Amino acid sequence: MSDDRLSKLRAMAEADPNDELAHFGFGSALLEAGQPGEAAKSFQRVLAINSQNSKAYQLLAEAQRAAGDVGYAIEALKTGYRIAHKRGDLMPMNAMAKMLQEMGEAVPQVAAAAVAGESGGAVGGGFACSRCGSPGPRLAKQPFKGPLGDTILARVCQSCWREWIAMGTKVINELRLPMHDPQAQEMYDRHMKEFLNLEE
Ligand SMILES: [Zn+2]
Repeated sequence: MSDDRLSKLRAMAEADPNDELAHFGFGSALLEAGQPGEAAKSFQRVLAINSQNSKAYQLLAEAQRAAGDVGYAIEALKTGYRIAHKRGDLMPMNAMAKMLQEMGEAVPQVAAAAVAGESGGAVGGGFACSRCGSPGPRLAKQPFKGPLGDTILARVCQSCWREWIAMGTKVINELRLPMHDPQAQEMYDRHMKEFLNLEE
């Protein structure tokens, strides 16, 4: 994490108190930079803008746990787990269940049938979108050439891809990324992978 990237993200977040993506990006960067207390504030801001962002609950809990606020982390995980379940966000849901178990807490009881994809079984041939967990519809072809394009075709649903296109445009404008610069391209790809939950 370069200081430069962190300060760009900070400027983006400070420029607009209602920019969900900016606060999410800044919080993720702070968490990565080892500033969990500050990161937690950013994720709280994200949740004030969009209370249904289940991934923000997951990261809020990670930040709070790292900052030593275990009680708050557990509370965030329990609320976030229910929201993730309701929305069918399988990845955050599983991550939050795992954290609760690690912390010796019970995972909230939810009805399994409501989880997206689980009732459908064979829908989309076992496809589950990496971002939202839905069984599709999938993209008809790779959105661009190269290995990342292949990964997106294989793992991301149509509606998440459309959401990213809107967000990606914002990222380019707000960070003023010169897209002919390989470093800017790398930063853009990184935002894309974070947004689409494609990070290893
Ligand atoms: Zn999706």
